[in-house]
Amino acid sequence: MNSSRQAKRLWNACSTALVDFPISDVSPIEYSTALPESVDVVIVGGGIVGISAAIYLNRLGQRVVLLEKGRIAGEQSSRNWGWIRQQGRDPDELPIMVEASHLWRELSAQTDETIGLVQGGLTYMAKDSAEFEKFAAWMPHANENGVDSRMLSRAELEKLMPEARCNWSGGIYTASDMRAEPWVAVPTLARLAVSEGVTICEGCAARGIETSAGQITAVMTENGIVKTPQVIVAGGAWSSLFLRNAGVNIPQLSVRASVVAVDGAPMTYQGGGADSKIAFRTRADGGYSLAAGEFHEFFIGPDAFRAFGKYLTQVKHDPFGTRYYPAAPKGYPDAWGTPRRWALDEQSPFERMRVLNPKPNAAKCASLVDHFSTLFPDLGPIKSKAAWAGMIDTMPDLVPVVDQVDDVSGLTIATGMSGHGFGIGPAIGRILAKMVTGQDTGYDLSRFRLSRFSDGSKMVLGPAI
Ligand SMILES: Cc1cc2nc3c(=O)[nH]c(=O)nc-3n(C[C@H](O)[C@H](O)[C@H](O)COP(=O)(O)OP(=O)(O)OC[C@H]3O[C@@H](n4cnc5c(N)ncnc54)[C@H](O)[C@@H]3O)c2cc1C
Repeated sequence: MNSSRQAKRLWNACSTALVDFPISDVSPIEYSTALPESVDVVIVGGGIVGISAAIYLNRLGQRVVLLEKGRIAGEQSSRNWGWIRQQGRDPDELPIMVEASHLWRELSAQTDETIGLVQGGLTYMAKDSAEFEKFAAWMPHANENGVDSRMLSRAELEKLMPEARCNWSGGIYTASDMRAEPWVAVPTLARLAVSEGVTICEGCAARGIETSAGQITAVMTENGIVKTPQVIVAGGAWSSLFLRNAGVNIPQLSVRASVVAVDGAPMTYQGGGADSKIAFRTRADGGYSLAAGEFHEFFIGPDAFRAFGKYLTQVKHDPFGTRYYPAAPKGYPDAWGTPRRWALDEQSPFERMRVLNPKPNAAKCASLVDHFSTLFPDLGPIKSKAAWAGMIDTMPDLVPVVDQVDDVSGLTIATGMSGHGFGIGPAIGRILAKMVTGQDTGYDLSRFRLSRFSDGSKMVLGPAI
């Protein structure tokens, strides 16, 4: 099928496909629990970060309510590739990611359900010797953290992926890297949280926080007020909008990333792989998820102008990695018409968009299917079965903010996870639980402090979106 016909077919398939893959506002509400009057901690956001924080806070004896405006994992946390990746991580994220890998195994064993956790390994394939050297330069971080990454020669790569028809120069491979099925994993962890005593309210937007003498006293929701001294904002692409109304500015923006699921015969290699043009992984149903790892789309809005200066380093580093559009669709966090201020007794932008469900870039998805067919011709006809997209929230230096706000006592932020928050999510959740309860987190988190954007620090870019 030619690319434009395939693109059209994919576009038409998108609305129905979402029933099977990412969660959306057509998915049923699982938790319509009444709001408790008061709790120890309110968590805003039911993605992997919020759910993980809820589990570990509850295990520390805290009374927790998690508020989700739409559906658990309705946004990025069900739309991602499902990579649980240590390979190529920012050096400050890596030790946390090593812990996250252990936690994924532990959590998977603690549920009665499968989350599709598989240790399939991860490979980056180098297009030339310069890229090979770039991969090799990261190896000391793997060695320092006890991660089993190793460089692959061209011949070793051919042996690992015998069906591939490509002239790669070699690669880097981490056998212990894993994957899970995100649209299954995060809802399953939510059920684990509830079974252990966490309260989850879906379809319940947090409108804002109330404070007294600089200390949080309550969270106002669309369904009423919850008294609390502690709030964690884990709102993904909406965090900056929420925080801004509370008087806290973070330079967070989002990019659209598209994914296409295809059927195809099994290949020898069962892990994830990526080169500069395509990223793929085997799915639990035997097919493959495909994406263009180095291609993102950005909708310009007021926040983009506000934060532009902070993103200059990133833009200069990769001027062609992002495609720009003049405006986001209506209701997006940084759309031109989205209100920046609202009173806590009036409808907020969060209630107006229950699930941020961007249309995938159909042409890009079609070209990925073509490319995958060319790369692996022996897998037979590659048929696309669904396509979706997600808005990845990111920070100017491509690493998250995980910090407590100095000026608002009781306010903790965990956001800007970039394209790697799914894998690290459980460990971020465990860190948040320790942070909020005043315990030692076990890590130097200074790289992830909020003040780095205002204290004159030099921008140090993490590896990639
Ligand atoms: C296409 C794609 C591929 C990716 N691939 C990978 C990958 O392979 N590996 C990896 O590690 N990461 C990957 N990521 C990134 C990963 O998905 C995210 O970093 C991670 O899911 C972020 O989790 P989160 O909990 O911070 O945010 P989210 O999952 O976005 O959850 C935030 C939630 O907060 C809710 N919310 C926001 N505001 C409010 C409010 N005011 N009141 C109530 N609820 C609110 C939202 O509705 C949302 O459900 C990918 C992302 C995308 C889009």
